[in-house]
Amino acid sequence: MATHSTKVLIIGSGAAGLTAAIYAARANLKPILVAGLQPGGQLTMTTDVENFPGFPEGIQGPELMEQMQAQAERVGTEFLYDIITEADLSQRPFRCVGDSGDIYEGETVIISTGATARWLGIPSEEDYRGFGVSACATCDAFFFRGKDVCIIGGGNTAVEEAIFLTNHANSVTLIHRRDSLRAERVMQDHLFANAKISVIWDSVVEEVLGSTDPKAVTGLRLKNLKTGKTQDISTDGVFVAIGHTPNTSLFKGVLDTDGEGYLVTKPGSTTTNIPGVFAAGDVQDRVFRQAITAAGTGCMAAIEADRFLVEHGSNG
Ligand code: FAD
Ligand code: NAP
Repeated sequence: MATHSTKVLIIGSGAAGLTAAIYAARANLKPILVAGLQPGGQLTMTTDVENFPGFPEGIQGPELMEQMQAQAERVGTEFLYDIITEADLSQRPFRCVGDSGDIYEGETVIISTGATARWLGIPSEEDYRGFGVSACATCDAFFFRGKDVCIIGGGNTAVEEAIFLTNHANSVTLIHRRDSLRAERVMQDHLFANAKISVIWDSVVEEVLGSTDPKAVTGLRLKNLKTGKTQDISTDGVFVAIGHTPNTSLFKGVLDTDGEGYLVTKPGSTTTNIPGVFAAGDVQDRVFRQAITAAGTGCMAAIEADRFLVEHGSNG
């Protein structure tokens, strides 16, 4: 088992962690970045990214993240493939343990562990996960060529994925629990203009219906929240796109979180309640949750870590 020591330990390799790494490396802090289960983060699950500045024609999510990683490594980041399973933030240097058994010591820590897709939490959803139930249209749409699929949710992800699914599926039914969407207006316009997409409003999934041999989704039992009526509809696949939960379980009871589990940072800063521990990106942002804001707070965290080290006499 190896011990890796650094002035700046960055946990997470999404837009926040990689931007923090670029800034920390350019400040000559020789950061170590632990990539986690999803190197590149959430954007590796999507296709076209059209709102990240600098790419007039848009860029594919995975490609953008590969470029960020290459940039971070070129300026001096040590990029390690491991998952942090324990974090002791009680004293400096802070000490984390990886799934590999390796120890990671940081005089400062930047937490950029992002967020993970949320599930409905009903038993039948779990039963059919991987057998017609998915949380990643970009990953699984291909399997539903010429089929009828449903997507659950009313945010940007649900709308974007519904549109993407029409490239493969015969029809897409978006099911939302209210009578208006949360997604940006321009995306709603694209959704409503797409002849392959229909919407069922005010409804939630009570049960995923399926066959056992072969194990496959065959339909959904829906409940209309306004009328209380249930109806069964046929479908070949269900994509769940109901948002994300911040990845903060490692820091429970140690770092301050809000009611939804997001890390609390001081307004206008990435500082947490523990001096020397900073949080950047979706893990501390319940409002914007964009690649560019994640990158922005990653930059802030690296600058704040640098200042902390100077103030504590350890940036030599
Ligand atoms: P994440 O991207 O979530 O990365 C978190 C990182 O932390 C991952 O690398 C993970 O492996 C790591 N990690 C987690 N736990 C651990 C651990 N224990 N140890 C080590 N590492 C760990 N935003 C846009 O601006 N434009 C878009 O077009 C856009 N499209 C999107 C499409 C989809 C389908 C989704 C889901 C999101 C989209 N977003 C988009 C939002 C954007 O992806 C996020 O805002 C952004 O990825 C947040 O970056 P992050 O670095 O904070 O976290
Ligand atoms: P989100 O904005 O939190 O939306 C989640 C949706 O799921 C909401 O419509 C919510 O309904 C619904 N929902 C939540 N829990 C549910 C449940 N248990 N049952 C049924 N429905 C439920 O999440 P998101 O769409 O994943 O977006 C996350 C962030 O990434 C956002 O900031 C978004 O802007 C960003 N993003 C951006 C882009 C882009 O810019 N192109 C693309 C994708 C995502 P209510 O509306 O009733 O709350």
